[in-house]
Amino acid sequence: MIAWKRVPENEAEIRMRESRTVKVKGIQIGGGDVVVMAGPCSVESHDQLMETARGVKAAGANMLRGGAYKPRTSPYDFQGLGLDALKYLREASEETGLPIVTEVMSEGDVETVAEYADMLQVGARNMQNFSLLRILAVTKRPVLLKRGPSATIKEWLLAAEYLLAGGNTEVVLCERGIKTFETSTRNTLDLAAVALARELSHLPVIADPSHGTGIRSLVPAMSKAAIGAGADGLMIEVHPCPERALSDGPQSLDLPGFAQLMKEIGKAPSRRTEAA
Ligand code: PEP
Ligand code: MN
Repeated sequence: MIAWKRVPENEAEIRMRESRTVKVKGIQIGGGDVVVMAGPCSVESHDQLMETARGVKAAGANMLRGGAYKPRTSPYDFQGLGLDALKYLREASEETGLPIVTEVMSEGDVETVAEYADMLQVGARNMQNFSLLRILAVTKRPVLLKRGPSATIKEWLLAAEYLLAGGNTEVVLCERGIKTFETSTRNTLDLAAVALARELSHLPVIADPSHGTGIRSLVPAMSKAAIGAGADGLMIEVHPCPERALSDGPQSLDLPGFAQLMKEIGKAPSRRTEAA
């Protein structure tokens, strides 16, 4: 029934079965606490990123996200700041101590992005870009593999298999919503997929309720639902002023909204930690 289970046992698969944790610069994903990766959809400016990084850090986030190279449906929409964004992300990481996760869109960018980022995100639209996956398999960086909007669970796990079989066992899966007949939400966040992928793959699985719903007000409820389904972490889009965001504003939490969510899921730093 499940294709990857028919993949012949090999060293990579054995390693995969053994571990459910991936470490990104000291942050352990899987096997314990829910890891929260938060930040803007796109890095838009130095100030916007620094303000967001400081805000999400104060609210208890574990990692900083932010797009430098953006996969946009329209070629006329903001495409990301590229290298400048990578530099801002690095600076924000150095100041806050938060490891960085950012998308690498093309094979030609892997080396540059890997120089600045602690974890490389494969975007939903690239899940089955097998030549990109093959390069990432030999890149010494953990990979966050987003599920394609039209990919089955089997296809998603087989895409992960490209990374594992190619030698990169540091892979985290991310459910970010799939296309269904429903149009009231941007995508349909498939939480059964979170539970099933965890049963089948032994890889950590996180959920992205921001892209999964496209609607800010739904993000807290779906974050809690994802944790209930067993998610090892969350990816949440946060912007200091969502109304002015250059991408995905309607689904982005503002900083107080994010701090409130972190409280509700028990991730807000305690006063003692804050003082330390
Ligand atoms: C993102 O994380 O900003 C993004 C573009 O995600 P996805 O690939 O899931 O659409
Ligand atoms: Mn986005």
